[in-house]
Amino acid sequence: MFWDQESETITRSTLQQLQLKRLQDTVQRVAQRVPFYRDKFKKLGITPADIKSLDDVRRLPFTTSADLRANYPDGLLAVERDEAVRLHTSSGTTGKPKAIFFSRKDVDNAAELIARSLVMTGITKKDVFQNMMSYGLFTGGLVMHYGAEKVGCLVIPSGPGTSERQLMLMQDFRTTAVHILPSYALYFAGFLEQKGIDPRKDLALRKACVGAEPHTEETRRRIEQIYGCDVYNSYGLTEMNGPGIAFECEHKAGLHLWEDNFILEIIHPDTGEPLPEGQTGEMVLTSLKREAMPILRYRTRDITSIIPEPCKCGRTHRRFARITGRSDDMLIIRGVNMFPQQIERVLMSFPQVGRNYVIVIEGLDDMTIKVELTAAGFDGQVEHLSALQKQMVEKLKAETWVRPKVELVPAGSLPVAEGKAKRVIDKRSL
Ligand SMILES: [Zn+2]
Repeated sequence: MFWDQESETITRSTLQQLQLKRLQDTVQRVAQRVPFYRDKFKKLGITPADIKSLDDVRRLPFTTSADLRANYPDGLLAVERDEAVRLHTSSGTTGKPKAIFFSRKDVDNAAELIARSLVMTGITKKDVFQNMMSYGLFTGGLVMHYGAEKVGCLVIPSGPGTSERQLMLMQDFRTTAVHILPSYALYFAGFLEQKGIDPRKDLALRKACVGAEPHTEETRRRIEQIYGCDVYNSYGLTEMNGPGIAFECEHKAGLHLWEDNFILEIIHPDTGEPLPEGQTGEMVLTSLKREAMPILRYRTRDITSIIPEPCKCGRTHRRFARITGRSDDMLIIRGVNMFPQQIERVLMSFPQVGRNYVIVIEGLDDMTIKVELTAAGFDGQVEHLSALQKQMVEKLKAETWVRPKVELVPAGSLPVAEGKAKRVIDKRSL
């Protein structure tokens, strides 16, 4: 199913012409209106006229999250302040957030891309769409909301609210599609279990869009299995609209990035050099249609690779592979590099593993993984638990090359985060 078949199946050559035209316009506009970019161009000795081909994007400067913070609150605004109609921010772990402005056109366009994305997963106007993401400064609420309304769904803006209320809405309005954090989807499953509710029989869910947190294929499969619905991976970042930048189609084999709106590059995270298609590196995005606040070559810190083969669905916008981690999230344990997702993949491959886990690093790189088991998995038989623990340690060692300590705990004993899950507690940096 297509929302905008013409744009979604545009030929590669027409798409590239469109990208070049939009890139040239964007560069021209920021050169005129944004002192930050004007100064950068001057230092690099380039002018908008130097952008003659798509490859020339490489001549443009990178923009980093530090640049966005340094230009807080409105240093990167490319329109008059009264042309902006919406403000979102991206949470910062330290200091000021990153402020992102939307013009009227930006709001409409973001909704348009969400509509394409949702329809691509098979969601239609017949669906009842419960948006369980935080409304407010975070884009996951409002931006997704407007897109789902555009499709014509009945949208329930439940926000992250309490599980009791989520369940009531789901049952009373026969919710068929949700937008949910993967960690919350797992947590909510535990809540349903306690309530004696079988999500496969007692709920009407058929589609779940999960995003805003990196997660593994194993977690997707687990959510699908628990709820008996199709789960689609959604990718976004506030700096580029929020959700709806890239989404999986029905084949669930990588995320289509809407290339008429963004230029996608993969670079070596240390050298900044572009990498050939198929190689793994850091994703860099240039906005092509953002009016209020265009951003050139944004360093996302997300690690992925481009899937060069065309997709069976017929969309010509290229796909990238599931994000394997954010370069900022990389852990270095005893000199070995690893991502928390590698650990999650191993844990989720054990059926006894429940819905929550946490990785604690302390002392001289000592890693302890606390893992909740399901009620059946935590059967109180010491020999079962110690055998399982040994198996887990060996599998984790094989995957990460580091031998962690594993503590198995009963369901519900680890703390639950309010919003995004906090999976890693690194006490070394405190
Ligand atoms: Zn596809």
